[in-house]
Amino acid sequence: MPTNEDLIDKYMNARGGRLVPGNDELARTVAYLKWRANGNIDVVRQTFPKLPHIHFDIFDSWDANAIAFKYGQVYFIGVSRGIVGLLGVMFDRIMGDKSLLDFLGDSSKERESMPNIPLGPDFVNSMKEVEIFGQPIDPMRHAVAQRMKDLAFDFVFAHEFAHIANGHLDYWSDRYGYSEIQELSESSKIANVNQNWVRQVIELDADRTGVFMTLSSELGKVLGHSSRPAEPVAGLYDLPSIILQLWCISVASVARLFGDDLLEAEGSPIPLYPSWRLRSIGMQRMAHRIVRAGDFPTRLKWEDLNIPDSILSSTYHYVEEIFSKISGMPPVTRGLLDATSERGWKRTSQLDEIWTKLRPDLERFAYVALHE
Ligand SMILES: [Zn+2]
Repeated sequence: MPTNEDLIDKYMNARGGRLVPGNDELARTVAYLKWRANGNIDVVRQTFPKLPHIHFDIFDSWDANAIAFKYGQVYFIGVSRGIVGLLGVMFDRIMGDKSLLDFLGDSSKERESMPNIPLGPDFVNSMKEVEIFGQPIDPMRHAVAQRMKDLAFDFVFAHEFAHIANGHLDYWSDRYGYSEIQELSESSKIANVNQNWVRQVIELDADRTGVFMTLSSELGKVLGHSSRPAEPVAGLYDLPSIILQLWCISVASVARLFGDDLLEAEGSPIPLYPSWRLRSIGMQRMAHRIVRAGDFPTRLKWEDLNIPDSILSSTYHYVEEIFSKISGMPPVTRGLLDATSERGWKRTSQLDEIWTKLRPDLERFAYVALHE
């Protein structure tokens, strides 16, 4: 009788295999990420005890991919080592740059020059001509970089978690016969237009869960409802606008890794995945809902935080400046303009309408309460 671990191995071996750490540092990183993933699941289980057991592991693949699948009765979330590596170098590069976020810690301690990194959704291609550089030198900036890596990882994890907990995977399997949801590389095998609309809506819903889990956790620490990370970053939680900005940079940077993509050309069939720029806009809308409309378990009111309402949208533009600085390339905004054009907003409202229709069907499979 194969064990659950055997089944997971079989599935993973057909897709690059499970990462087996070859050194102590990598082993520590993998153990830390498993601890974070399981901790995130446990938090949700306190509210929704019927949540099934979910296994988590790292795939030995350098693409920026993540995956949720079901094998028999076993649920599994896999994140590629490529994502973990990209998040690591991205936030070390940002906080190691004395000109970026220079109001945090003592940026004068950071290195005089840092390499340009053409960041994209493939670790090996992004790093092949980049000289190795260390982590930020100033202890506060080092700790902030780690905090941003954690938030970005938690966002990616929460997105995959939503594919299971919000019933996406079981619905997808019941309706279309696929028992996996991947973030990359499924485009070639699905060409049914209706199915692609559903899938786009599912992706946006998973992003909303990612925003909800990570942002409500951060705001909970601001309000003292949950424990704060250790010093030197603990004190930052007395400064809500800084926490909100760091959250926003962390999450928006994940979306930005995938570039400045456009909606499909006029008249072309709708693709399987929504454009990343459209997704960024969706994340921002969800963040606004959480902090402003009281859509938060502790009834937090935006006014209580006393932060300008524009901070979320302005930070998304700031992320473009950051990417320009760390890559040495001019800012790119064609896709961003596309997503915020009349056509982009029309697409967003079309997807909202499909969500309203899909939600009752998903509820039959969901283990948690679905977002409105
Ligand atoms: Zn997804």
